[in-house]
Amino acid sequence: MTVSPRDDLVALEGYHSPQVAVDIRLNTNEAPEPPPAAWIADVARAAAEVDWHRYPDRAATELRAAIGKTHGVGPEQVFAANGSNEVLQCLLLTYGGPGRSVGVFEPTYALHSHLAHITGTGVLVGERTADFALDPDEVERVVTGGRPTVTFLCSPNNPTGVVEPEDAVRSVLAKVEAVDGLLLVDEAYGQFAPWSALTLVDDAAPLCVTRTFSKTWSMAAARLGYLVGPTWLVAELDKVTLPYHLDALKQAAGRLALDYQDEMDQRVATIVEERGRLTARLAELPVDVWPSGANFILFRPRSGDGDGVWQALVDRSVLVRNCASWPRLDGCLRVTIGTPEEDDRFLTALEEIL
Ligand code: PMP
Repeated sequence: MTVSPRDDLVALEGYHSPQVAVDIRLNTNEAPEPPPAAWIADVARAAAEVDWHRYPDRAATELRAAIGKTHGVGPEQVFAANGSNEVLQCLLLTYGGPGRSVGVFEPTYALHSHLAHITGTGVLVGERTADFALDPDEVERVVTGGRPTVTFLCSPNNPTGVVEPEDAVRSVLAKVEAVDGLLLVDEAYGQFAPWSALTLVDDAAPLCVTRTFSKTWSMAAARLGYLVGPTWLVAELDKVTLPYHLDALKQAAGRLALDYQDEMDQRVATIVEERGRLTARLAELPVDVWPSGANFILFRPRSGDGDGVWQALVDRSVLVRNCASWPRLDGCLRVTIGTPEEDDRFLTALEEIL
């Protein structure tokens, strides 16, 4: 016997990123290096000090204060959760739901519309231009015409790597404000980009920005992400999130990580430099490459057979993200920036295949 889920979820497919056992994993945009050894030792010490029989600090006050400090805002403007995905889910549990909709501009991070479906929220889809930039006419149609409660941008955008220019974000924000909506800028890859929408966050603006410890901070295993936004919005999220949703060790791990800002800045600089090398090497091959402001690069083999190239890379024990059959990304693959050794393995395999 089975029991049916909610009617609107019957046809829903789960969100998958295939995990294949290979030597070189360049498919999920993780950091290529583990976190600093000193941080791991700090976390071990913190684990010994946790009051394990007690619930953790429900408001995660110290963690929020530490995150807020790095962005020049108070803890009341920070909401943290188990990965930025959970932050987005909480945002839609709070502001989405039946009778409401979100606006997205495809191609973009698939989880934005996936979470909308799960929370019973409608999805208004706008198209990007051929080079994956925002199309002002589409913004007008979706935002001004459709009046979504939440409009999503992703900068740098996953999977294209495109950074939204500041004037484009400001112009979307003005349109969002005019329809009494919210603008969410997903900056999971924000540290790799030349500017951040965090500079526009203000209690008077309906704008929030999400970030994650999964990429820059080499902490994908810890599941920690956060939002910086207006005080009134954070207060609403606090009412909706589960009680004690952030465990005590994670709160400590995140707080302690922020003591290693210099090391992380250095890692970002190294990855950005390696991104330049990989982009240049890809440009010498028969592939189209899109300039990236993130820790990954989108490319398309000119042979047009993205699926075939993906499989041939797997056969050489190199895993990249296969976007070849995704709408609007015909034949495209996305490679995460790894260590120089990993990237050389990828390049050698790709050269051989092409
Ligand atoms: N936003 C974007 C654009 C992403 O690519 C990812 C990771 N795939 C996330 C959010 C989620 O990251 P996490 O839940 O690990 O913080």
